[in-house]
Amino acid sequence: MFRRLHLKLTAYMAMILVVFMFFVATGIYSFTRLVFEDSNKELMETEAIRIYTYRTMSFSGFFMNDGMFLRLGPSVAFMGTQKLDACYVIYDRNMDRVYVEENEKSIADNIQNLAQKAYDEEKDSFVTKKIGHFNYRILTKYFNDTNGKSVVQVYQNTVNEDILWSFLKTVLFVTGISGMAVLLGISYIFTGQAIKPIKDTWIRQKEFVADASHELRTPLTVIQTNLDVVLSDDEGTVEENEMWLSNAYSETRVMAKLIDELLILAKADANQEKLDLSEFSFSEVVENVCQNMEIIAHKKNIEFELMMEDDIKIKADYDKLRRLVVILVDNAVKYTEKGKVTVSLYTDKNKKKIFSVEDTGIGICQKDLDRIFDRFYRADKARHREGGTGLGLSIAKWIADAHRFSLTVESTINVGSKFTLKM
Ligand code: ADP
Repeated sequence: MFRRLHLKLTAYMAMILVVFMFFVATGIYSFTRLVFEDSNKELMETEAIRIYTYRTMSFSGFFMNDGMFLRLGPSVAFMGTQKLDACYVIYDRNMDRVYVEENEKSIADNIQNLAQKAYDEEKDSFVTKKIGHFNYRILTKYFNDTNGKSVVQVYQNTVNEDILWSFLKTVLFVTGISGMAVLLGISYIFTGQAIKPIKDTWIRQKEFVADASHELRTPLTVIQTNLDVVLSDDEGTVEENEMWLSNAYSETRVMAKLIDELLILAKADANQEKLDLSEFSFSEVVENVCQNMEIIAHKKNIEFELMMEDDIKIKADYDKLRRLVVILVDNAVKYTEKGKVTVSLYTDKNKKKIFSVEDTGIGICQKDLDRIFDRFYRADKARHREGGTGLGLSIAKWIADAHRFSLTVESTINVGSKFTLKM
């Protein structure tokens, strides 16, 4: 499912990239061409005007006669200025060709219709036309002043430019394709990273639902089995069936605890579990919880020690912090067969309040330590123990995280464990 989503996202990304690259490449190409054509047209126009002015002046005998103009050609008009790499054709008021370079006559014949058109319609034109094997850019400029009508044509062979344009097209195409391939690879990696948290949450959610239904089914089956025995005994009294009934009853307590814990985690996931912050004596909370736990510890013949600084105050959610203390101390007593449980609360040299619960119990192996705060995770040895849900520590961790406290664990298998809450 996620592989398909990953590929789909990458495909969408690819489509966006193709459209984007296409517009960028055609944009660059068209804009460059437009600017180039525009500036070329302007240059050609300036040249046409210069040629016209120069010829008019030469006719009026201003500084040279017509014969000189014909011999020297229009190039003489640009002495001292940058000369455009172009050819010229000049027509007089009778549309007689008065100037054309000797070896350019056939081209002049080819574009004469444009000159005639400009003359007839009395307007300029700027076109690109294929003559023979080459493209030519032709500017036909129409003049009409006191000297009468005339037409000047300026034209350029664009073969070199065409090579350049097709080179630019190839470069844009190749860079576009290779750029897209690189970007596609990158987007594949990024979309993979983007969907990873969703994937992890989805997998965790799936596991959570599967584990929750499994954990609920077990006590339910036990209750059903015990009640079946009671129901099948038609003659038996309540006292005679007490064992089965109390079995069923204790399983309902397990179920109630499980449902209660599931509800807390579900609310935490939905961000509905808000912290109700207030300042209170954490020492009192710890003392109160330990008083109850000490009794259970003594019943199990476990030594129980409480080392505590008096009146350590914290600002936190009272009920949640109490729950956290219960979870840690209850686990310490639950997973210790002999030895000692030590609960301590003090302020360290960095003014941090430290609450720790240490035991000499079964311990947790390294492999389990990494997952001990995961929902429903129970170390192998603990699996067979009664009453555990595997949710206590994940709730404790959530409470610590929600308060921005740190909850850590150190443990050695068969030696003992130490849970530390830093506030
Ligand atoms: P459970 O209801 O099973 O105790 P928890 O979330 O409180 O669920 O604990 C998860 C698992 O962590 C337990 O099943 C047990 O394997 C291990 N564990 C927790 N506390 C201790 C401890 N003090 N000593 C050894 N193992 C512990």
